[in-house]
Amino acid sequence: MKVAIVNNGEENSVRVAKRLMELLLDEKIKIDENTPEFVISVGGDGTLLKAFHNYQHRLSEVKFLGVHTGHLGFYTDWRDFELEELVASLKENRANSVSYPILDVQIGFRDGTKSKHYLALNESTIRRGSRTLVGDVLISDELFERFRGDGLSISTPTGSTAYNKSVGGAVIHPSIKAIQLAEIASLNNRVFRTLGSPIVIGQNEWVKVALQESDDYAVMIDQLEIKAENISSVCYRIASEEIHFASYRHTHFWNRVKDAFIGDGE
Ligand code: NAD
Repeated sequence: MKVAIVNNGEENSVRVAKRLMELLLDEKIKIDENTPEFVISVGGDGTLLKAFHNYQHRLSEVKFLGVHTGHLGFYTDWRDFELEELVASLKENRANSVSYPILDVQIGFRDGTKSKHYLALNESTIRRGSRTLVGDVLISDELFERFRGDGLSISTPTGSTAYNKSVGGAVIHPSIKAIQLAEIASLNNRVFRTLGSPIVIGQNEWVKVALQESDDYAVMIDQLEIKAENISSVCYRIASEEIHFASYRHTHFWNRVKDAFIGDGE
C-alpha cells in the first residue's frame, strides 16, 4: 500500500501529518508522493481540495481521506485524535470506497488558442472584474437565457454546501449525478430577465456560457483563479472521472448538513 500525505502547513497539521506518517511506517505502509494509492489530507476542506488538485491526473488510481484539524469539514471525516483507528481502517477496508461526481470545465478562447480543460471538486465561477457580466447561457447547445449580473456559479453535489449555498443554491445529496447552475446577483427588471433560481442538470446535458468580448473575465476552479484574455466561452458538464473516497464514514449526509449549518438550535 502506498500513501501520500498533504497538509496545510499549519503547525497542528504538520504535527498530525508527522504522527500519521510514523503510524503508517510502523505498519510497513509506504509513503509515496508520486504514485500513491491513497492520499490523506490533514487540515480542512481547503486542504482536501488542494490534495485533489495535486493528484487530479491520477483520480482513477487514488482514493482520498481527510483528517480535520479544525472544525468538522465536509470532506474531512477523521479527527486528529483518531489516527490509529484511521490506519487500521485503511488496512482492513482498503477496497471500500465511495465515488462522487466532479465538474469538467472547458474554457474556449476567441483568438484560436486551444481550449483549456480543468476539473473542479467544489465549483467553478465566472465573474468579470467590476463590470456587469453579460453572457448567453446555453443548455445542451440550446439558448436558455441571456444573463446579466455579477457572475455564475456551477457546482458539484459535494460542492453544493460550499460557495453554491452562499449564493442561494440548493444542497444536493452527493450520490446524485448532477451539476447546479446558480446566479450571482443577476440583474432582473422590465428589460433584463433571467430565470432567477438555481437549476440542476443531469448526466447527458451540459451548460455553456458564451461571453461577450472582454478581457477581464476571471474563472475560478475551486481555489484556483484562471485569469486569461480572450475567453469566449466556458462549458460545464459532469466529468467522466470521479473522486473516490476511502474509509468514508457514512455519516448521515443530512445530519452533517444540520451540524454544519443549523446546530442544536438552543
Ligand atoms: P477555505 O479553506 O477558507 O474555505 C472556505 C470555507 O468553505 C471553509 O469554512 C470550508 O470548510 C468551507 N468549504 C469548502 N468546501 C466545502 C464544501 N464542499 N462544503 C461545505 N463547506 C465547504 O477556502 P479555500 O481553501 O480557498 O477553499 C475554497 C472553497 O471555499 C471554494 O471552493 C468555495 O466553495 C469556498 N468558499 C466559499 C465562499 C462563500 O461561501 N462565500 C467564499 C470563498 C470560498
